[in-house]
Amino acid sequence: IASQATKLTTTQQYAEFIDKFDTFLLDCDGVVWQGSHVIEGISETLDMLRSRGKRILFVTNNSTKSREAYTAKFEKIGIHAKEEEIFGSAFATAVYLSSVSKLPEGKKAYVIGMDGIRQEFALQNIPIADSEEDLADMTDDAFATIKPDEDVGAVVIGFDTHINYRKYAKAFTLLTRVPDCRFIATNTDLTFPAAGFQFPGTGALVSVLSTSTGRQPTVIGKPHQTMLDCIVEKYHLDRDRTCMVGDRLDTDIQFGINGGISTLLVLSGVTYEHQLHTENPSSVPTYYMDSLGHLAKVRDD
Ligand code: PLP
Ligand code: CA
Repeated sequence: IASQATKLTTTQQYAEFIDKFDTFLLDCDGVVWQGSHVIEGISETLDMLRSRGKRILFVTNNSTKSREAYTAKFEKIGIHAKEEEIFGSAFATAVYLSSVSKLPEGKKAYVIGMDGIRQEFALQNIPIADSEEDLADMTDDAFATIKPDEDVGAVVIGFDTHINYRKYAKAFTLLTRVPDCRFIATNTDLTFPAAGFQFPGTGALVSVLSTSTGRQPTVIGKPHQTMLDCIVEKYHLDRDRTCMVGDRLDTDIQFGINGGISTLLVLSGVTYEHQLHTENPSSVPTYYMDSLGHLAKVRDD
């Protein structure tokens, strides 16, 4: 299996790799940064790629921030990125519900998630159901207050550090008792990295609803194609000259494979080299290397 993925180790291989593509789609966490610190050599790599006329776009499954908030994060850590170059799963979910598969007129979304989803929905004029009581204690009496609100057309779930039983009970009630209520997940990453370890990801939060309702959500983030379709359409990309760079086989690399573009796995995030020998063979990348920051060794001539 590993023999199908070419490991890039020499400066000459880096240069040949760069020449094959016009556009690089970069996953963020594990490729550009780890938490709040930028991975070594990334700034220099991005400068070098841009000086060669390459287009760089960022594609993240993290739904907690809007594009505007990501722009601020990029600026804070010293990496240049314009808002329209950043594609996050909160933005993609808002695009999906406002233009790809619209909520019916007058219907609202019930959101389990953080500011990213709320901000992006506001920008696309997607109404959000009231959630004022969501953080209140779930007493025995509270069950009687949870009703199937017929104005809700979709339950949308993303990462939420304030998730609780009341939110799940509301979402379950909507998904099982409101006719045609849709079930949408921003992404289903099983885990995500923080402070050097893995923690339960959005996929783990979503599984409570899929287990209890028996329903499977429409998933917007990688490896599904909503973000790639948005990007290809907006930038008129040639898929043959586009490479997806990521640190996760089941999201990033599978996203590239599903979209018919080349893929580069970097080992600066959640995946170890030995997994290339044992993981699902359908998620084998075209290339792999230790860190995207190593491309900075290719100097401008
Ligand atoms: N979801 C959450 C909540 C995260 O915190 C992260 C990474 O920090 C991710 C998803 C994965 O993000 P990415 O697609 O940029 O690796
Ligand atoms: Ca990642």
